Parts: sequence; structure tokens; C-alpha cells
Amino acid sequence: MQELVRKNIRALQPYSCARDEFRGREAHVFVDANESPFNTGYNRYPDPLQEEIKSLLAPIKNVHPDEIFLGNGSDEAIDLVYRVFCEPRVDNVVAMAPSYGMYEVCANINDVEYRKVLLDENFHLHADAMLSAADDHTKVMWICSPNNPTGNDMDRKEVKRLLDEFPGILVVDEAYIDFSSLRSLRELVRLYPRLIVLNTFSKAWASASVRLGIAFAQSEIIALFNKVKYPYNINLLTQQYALDLLRNSEKIQRWTNDVKREREIVVPALKEVKCVVKVYPTDANFVLVKVTDAVRIYNYLVDRGIVVRNRNNVQLCGNCLRITIGNKEENNEVLGALRSF
Ligand SMILES: *Cc1c(COP(=O)(O)O)cnc(C)c1O
Repeated sequence: MQELVRKNIRALQPYSCARDEFRGREAHVFVDANESPFNTGYNRYPDPLQEEIKSLLAPIKNVHPDEIFLGNGSDEAIDLVYRVFCEPRVDNVVAMAPSYGMYEVCANINDVEYRKVLLDENFHLHADAMLSAADDHTKVMWICSPNNPTGNDMDRKEVKRLLDEFPGILVVDEAYIDFSSLRSLRELVRLYPRLIVLNTFSKAWASASVRLGIAFAQSEIIALFNKVKYPYNINLLTQQYALDLLRNSEKIQRWTNDVKREREIVVPALKEVKCVVKVYPTDANFVLVKVTDAVRIYNYLVDRGIVVRNRNNVQLCGNCLRITIGNKEENNEVLGALRSF
């Protein structure tokens, strides 16, 4: 494992914040952090390791608290993967394509070569192709399942092969796993020391605006993330919000079921629309649809106040629109507009 970590990160002496040093002891006078003594509710620095959130999240996700990293969105965890493992201009990563744009943007920001391996025409992953693209400097592989923007789960057999045969870090982004019938891979981090699984509060958990992403990995990787992250990366407002959601988490399952039920109505309805050429199978809360003329239909929908995602310029997604499953009224409006195109 340590072989895969950048030398400067291995040697890094992390910033030790006032709250780190005090942890675990009793005190009633806090004059260690140059905070204001005036109680606004927010005058103290927050817990840098968000331990209360992790203790409530761990049983829900069926992992141990020290297998959890919380970030300012999944995007923070994605960026940390590069900063911890990839030496700029030396190392490279291999990623399935098309997939989520942030993997490539963060590679470019960190000056790390990004090697794309196209899915097949049915958007299936082939481990052989990923392994062939790798060399001695490939530190990381990116898998997204269910995949954005295609919507489908990646074949478990292929992902397992990468877990067994790729000697670097395998990241599986499961932002949409709650909408899939497959079981999350996060419980496998106990068996695979080089596996990182990403989840988020942004999709099924209905909390995109608070920016809270989750990475699951063995404690050795989590410790590396904690060492490199900004000390107080999750602010107290977000932590309080998350605790409240976790204490009332039964509604998340209800929301997820509602979206899945709507998906079962929207997908067959889309197949009957004249300007729809193909509806790709989806395991997510959105559906990729090939239409007769994506640019014209996109603009037509915008004129009616409806915004979908135009994926026309994405490899393998010519003339495709990505449509999120909304509530019943929203879905009916989208379907009605498409029918009258
Ligand atoms: C939406 C999405 C995320 C979530 O990102 P956040 O920064 O947590 O909001 C992560 N991965 C993929 C593939 C996504 O589509």
C-alpha cells in the first residue's frame, strides 16, 4: 500500500489543529484556538474528523467508523485520490469512458495523465481492456456503477477481476447505488486494501446543496485522506444537518422507493414517444435516451422551461439526452413536451 503513496505524502507531517491535540480529554475553558468567547452557536471550530456523524453513518452503511472519510462532496475525495497517490507528470490513471467528468478534470488539475477506455456499444465494461491500458505507472483505476451518464450497473464479474488483478487503487463510484438492485461494494473494503468506494449525500439522500460526500476504504487509506485534507473540511452547519438526517433516516428509503416507482412509469412511457429512438437500461435515478435530434429537442424543451442534460457531444452518446427522474408532475411535463415535439 505505502508503495503506491506519493513520497512527499508518505513523509508529510500534517497540520495539527488545536482540536486534534485536545481530543479525548475533559476541559471547560477553551483558550487554545483563538476563537471568540461569544456564543453564536458557531464560534467554535467543528470536529475535524466528524466522529459523531461517522458513528451514526457506520451502522447504516454496514462499515466501521474508521473506514469512512467525509468530504466537501465526493469531489473532494476524487481530488484527494490524485493528491495522495499520483505523482504529477509521472503517474497515470485508467478510467472507463464515457463516465463522470470530474475524474478527468481533477486529473488535469493535478497534471496526471488520464487514460480513457471506452465501454462497448451497450455500455458494458471489459476488465481486459482496462488492464491492457495500464502500465507500471498506473496508480488508479476509475469505475462508476451505476454509471453516469449511461445509467447502467457495471458487470460485477468484471469489477471483481479488476479488484483481483489490478495492483493499484481501484475506485468504484457508487453515487447512484441506492437506485440499483445490486449490493454496494463498500462492505468489501475489509477484504480489499486497495479498494475505495464512493457514496454521496447528493442523490438518493436528497442533500446535494450541503456538499457531503463519503469515501469508504480500509483505515490506512482513510488516514492518508485525513492527513491531506483541509483540517476543518466539513463545517458545523453541514455536520448538524447530517446528524439530523441520520437520526431521521427512515425517509431516505421512502424517497428512494418513490423515485424507483416513478422510473418504472417513465421508462416504458419514453419508449412510446415518437422522437425517442432508444431508451438505455437504467439502474440509476436518471435515464439516457437516444432521440432523433438531441440539439433541437434540447432547445425545444428549454423553450418550455424544461432543462435536461444534452450528452450529444459525449463519446458513444451521440443524440442522447440524460433525463433525471423527477416527481410525478415533473415527469408528466417532460413526457408531455416530448410527445408534442
Ligand atoms: C452526482 C455524482 C456524484 C456526487 O458528487 P458530489 O460531489 O458528492 O455531489 C459523484 N459521482 C457521480 C458519478 C455523480 O454523478
